[in-house]
Amino acid sequence: MGFTGYENKDAGSWSTAKDTYNSFGNNRGKSAFFNDRGNSSRGRFEHGGFGGGGGNSRWVEEPRDDGDWSKPTPRNERLEHELFSGSNTGINFEKYDDIPVEATGQNCPRHIESFQDVDMGEIVMGNIALSRYTRPTPVQKYAIPIVKSKRDLMACAQTGSGKTAAFLLPILSQIYTDGPGEALNAAKASGQVSNGKYGRRKQYPISLVLAPTRELALQIYDEARKFSYRSRVRPCVVYGGADIGQQIRDLERGCHLLVATPGRLVDMMERGKIGLDHCKYLVLDEADRMLDMGFEPQIRRIVEQDTMPHKGVRQTMMFSATFPKEIQILARDFLEEYIFLAVGRVGSTSENITQKVVWVEESDKRSFLLDLLSATGKDSLTLVFVETKKGADALEDFLYREGYACTSIHGDRSQRDREEALNQFRSGKCPILVATAVAARGLDISNVKHVINFDLPSDIEEYVHRIGRTGRVGNLGLATSFFNDKNGNITKDLLDILVEAKQEVPSWLESLAYEHQHKSSNRGRSKRFSGGFGARDYRQTAAGGNTGGFGGRGGRNQTGHGGTRGFGGGGFGNFYTSDGYGGNYSHSQVDWWGN
Ligand code: AMP
Repeated sequence: MGFTGYENKDAGSWSTAKDTYNSFGNNRGKSAFFNDRGNSSRGRFEHGGFGGGGGNSRWVEEPRDDGDWSKPTPRNERLEHELFSGSNTGINFEKYDDIPVEATGQNCPRHIESFQDVDMGEIVMGNIALSRYTRPTPVQKYAIPIVKSKRDLMACAQTGSGKTAAFLLPILSQIYTDGPGEALNAAKASGQVSNGKYGRRKQYPISLVLAPTRELALQIYDEARKFSYRSRVRPCVVYGGADIGQQIRDLERGCHLLVATPGRLVDMMERGKIGLDHCKYLVLDEADRMLDMGFEPQIRRIVEQDTMPHKGVRQTMMFSATFPKEIQILARDFLEEYIFLAVGRVGSTSENITQKVVWVEESDKRSFLLDLLSATGKDSLTLVFVETKKGADALEDFLYREGYACTSIHGDRSQRDREEALNQFRSGKCPILVATAVAARGLDISNVKHVINFDLPSDIEEYVHRIGRTGRVGNLGLATSFFNDKNGNITKDLLDILVEAKQEVPSWLESLAYEHQHKSSNRGRSKRFSGGFGARDYRQTAAGGNTGGFGGRGGRNQTGHGGTRGFGGGGFGNFYTSDGYGGNYSHSQVDWWGN
């Protein structure tokens, strides 16, 4: 008998399963699991609210470790509806084809053009169909065959590019083919040590995904739940700032794929709840952000100082929006003979986002905002960025009083409140979300029609990051920024970005930028000047020309990808930051000026 916490004997009924079990093809009645399930079906009521699932409690069939992992378990209509009913509508797939992808490394497997080009098995293909993914996104075209052929991967791709499925699909497909292996025996043994009592087991996930924030962890977990539907794999998620007891109880029900923030995972390991001895697939998602947030010690503790299999034994995939030196070092330390992927951003400034900058005095901002909102239409999702938590609360109150269904997300709100706010926003119940930059980091808020910078940031990277919330996954978007005297320090960079993206530039902004540059010309070069270069370099690269002056530095990177195009180091920084997004300009700048 399997080990996965079947001791939880909550009653459950599943009368419809037999009638409906056929959705993954004509395999009705073929599943060993279905045939021997009979009346002793095991499962549990899973209560909504934990892990981002939301909703009411529902019956979930327990995955079963024994048996053939490659065969789908029976269908569960209710769960299916919950997981897939909100999938992907209104995405403009045509836009995907313009996204450039560069793959470098020894013996790089050929990319695919369709999901059918690679054998991912019945379960994965069924779930792709249920998710209504008709074709792979650029990062998926490349990453799926790379991961399937058991290669390590370093991919520069952002949230919105489809990167989550790019790693989850091939990992899960591999797990379904190989079965639980040693992880099953380890967990069984751990159960024996504690007399097989429910709630005492240490879990040995087969795959671990590390993510910087709880929001991103929850998003990955939600995707993992979709792609592990009708399989024996049980995904779990753990993150800080939430009740650890509940997370432990969830883990104890079985955990084959764990999504975790680094701090909470270390805690779980120290409590003896998680063992990484049999982790075959390790993913570091948004690695640059994890380092920015100071997680390097925890990450190294998890990957290097515990029982995690060594590189080369495990398969490791790193995803990062940027590729600064710290990430190159991490890649060198964690990856073995890896393939390097550079994926252009889905929905670049130039193509998909209309950027408007308007002069609005502080005292006029609220009334201007009301005008904008009434022009946008009440139903389209609008994200309003403000500078402070207090400002967020005040603006939310104001909009509420004005009759707008809105909510807010900022650092002072509890985890529960933030999740609730995000759900209300995503579902369209509150189509206006007032956010501070920090609280919005790493969130996949797709289908946002309008991003409004009620308060502009002083940092151009932050600006670019914010407007990237709209125009995602091929949709068209609008970004409006309120500009006044307070925003002098972003003038030049903002102008550069607008010009690069071929946007309308207000003449006052041009004059201001000229004045600003003139004033500061004696104080040395603009620290952010490199952002502008990046954009120009990109076009040269994409057109097959050279990478400009920056590429030359690429040869000194530690990754072995510094070759002809100067990837890595300064060279890569400029390839990637090119479309003006998310790039770590200050890094390129440091490399360029040789500091
Ligand atoms: P990610 O970059 O992983 O955060 O994904 C962004 C969004 O794109 C998510 O809502 C995914 O569900 C969706 N997505 C990922 N891959 C595809 C695909 N091949 N077709 C359509 N939508 C996709």
